[in-house]
Amino acid sequence: MKLPIYLDYNATTPMDPRVLEAMMPYFTETFGNAASRNHAFGWKAEESVERSREEIGSIIGATGKEIIFTSGATESDNLAIHGAAEFHKEKGNHIITAPTEHKAVLDMCHYLEQNGYEITYLDVDKYGCVDLQQIEDAITDKTILVTLMAANNEIGTIHPLKEIGQITRSKGVLFHCDATQGVGKIPIDVNEMNIDLLSMTAHKIYGPKGVGALYCRRKRPRVRIAPLFHGGGHERGFRSGTLNVSGIVGFAKAVEICKQEMESEAERLTSLREGLHQRLKDELDYIYLNGHPTKRLPGNLNISFAYVEGEALIMGISDIAVSSGSACTSASLEPSYVLRALGVGDDLAHSSIRFGMGRFTTSEEIEYTAQKMISAVTRLREMSPLYEMVSEGVDLSTVSWTSH
Ligand SMILES: *Cc1c(COP(=O)(O)O)cnc(C)c1O
Repeated sequence: MKLPIYLDYNATTPMDPRVLEAMMPYFTETFGNAASRNHAFGWKAEESVERSREEIGSIIGATGKEIIFTSGATESDNLAIHGAAEFHKEKGNHIITAPTEHKAVLDMCHYLEQNGYEITYLDVDKYGCVDLQQIEDAITDKTILVTLMAANNEIGTIHPLKEIGQITRSKGVLFHCDATQGVGKIPIDVNEMNIDLLSMTAHKIYGPKGVGALYCRRKRPRVRIAPLFHGGGHERGFRSGTLNVSGIVGFAKAVEICKQEMESEAERLTSLREGLHQRLKDELDYIYLNGHPTKRLPGNLNISFAYVEGEALIMGISDIAVSSGSACTSASLEPSYVLRALGVGDDLAHSSIRFGMGRFTTSEEIEYTAQKMISAVTRLREMSPLYEMVSEGVDLSTVSWTSH
């Protein structure tokens, strides 16, 4: 086993060697511009792009024609939301989303809010789930779009996409889904779920960084959006700019592997996740699971360890690469806005750890992580007066803290 151990698969994934192999010829041999119509270099590149488009579409039940290539999910989210808002501004100015969405969605919504749009932020329950009735009630004749993610990147909670899609379709409102964490990990079908726009990215599914896609429905109904970029009219005018051919080929290979291995991999990761959770629960008290216990991504475990300091904990497990609820938004010490939206207190948010497991995670690594966590938390709690008090049966909520 090699150290450090990578357990941050929700942030990014290493590229699968099979993906790299598929990409290699596209840097030096098949390097043509897919938009060059006059020679074989261009034709070959275009052929590879079109084949990749079909492959990528197929993992969500879409056709190749419905795939728009972008630089990643941030761009896809921006293109979908801005594009729908801009194109349909005559129809209305109202968008519905949730406070637990990715910043790429929330910051675009904030931008639109400053430019005359109205945004409804749905409530989420303690697991980070939205309420279907509230979605239905929030839709007005001014609503153009509902944007809700497939699965949350911090807490792993999976949204009921099919039920959401039934509501948006019956009300004639567009449904955009940031499925960055869902694609390749859980079954997603845009037709079954009535999804109109869907964002994805290659680097979360063992593909290269800097390439993603936006699915944009072509039939029943034909979805119209305005472009963000203006230029050569690539991607049927939706996204100008020379295509990242090698990246697109890698993205397609990554999708192909996910399609083959998704089912067995989900089973394996669920068992690793449950094993880690069980080990921690057996050895430590006062730990709390964040996110839904069962409706969650196979490889995501997010736990708050009460009575330890988050930063100290991260330092105590320095050979394990995880993400913490306090360090999520860059260098700020602000606790995770996702955990806050769930009603998790600042203390518990600060002491939360996201374990992101993936394709190359082994049971040996999980065992090492469990041991390391148990000893780090135990050691930190030995120094914690609060932990000592609760262990002795003191109810902290009844203690009156005075400075004199
Ligand atoms: C990673 C992520 C993004 C951003 O994707 P990039 O390709 O890095 O821009 C957007 N949404 C979710 C849910 C993510 O997990």
